[in-house]
Amino acid sequence: MEDCIFCKIINKQIPSKIVFEDDEMLAFEDINPQAPVHILIIPKEHYASLNEIPEEKKAILGNIVMRARKIAAEKGLKENGYRIVLNTLRDAGQDVFHIHFHLLGGRKMMWPPG
Ligand code: 5GP
Ligand code: ZN
Repeated sequence: MEDCIFCKIINKQIPSKIVFEDDEMLAFEDINPQAPVHILIIPKEHYASLNEIPEEKKAILGNIVMRARKIAAEKGLKENGYRIVLNTLRDAGQDVFHIHFHLLGGRKMMWPPG
């Protein structure tokens, strides 16, 4: 996707602080962190939101969540916990239309979310 900032991050046209990369996903630090740890994890294939992920591609969702768990452990969050967020479209406050999971931790989170 030509105009997608996250596709540009995947293609290294825009720099980012990469935490993990393999053939199917990229994890990188959020540019505007909302917690001491704030990492975005995205599939390399462009899908605008969860709504666009086809049934046959559902494995990527589990792979990303399990990778988030691993990164959380590496960042020292295993004991105290962490939050994984998947904002989908307007009411959830999705701003970038390339599906992305947020991994947040290192402070006490509020509930309900704003
Ligand atoms: P959303 O609101 O769509 O769920 O989250 C988008 C996230 O992407 C925000 O937390 C925002 O800070 C982050 N973000 C937007 N542009 C960039 C960028 O160019 N680089 C990085 N690393 N993060 C970005
Ligand atoms: Zn994209």
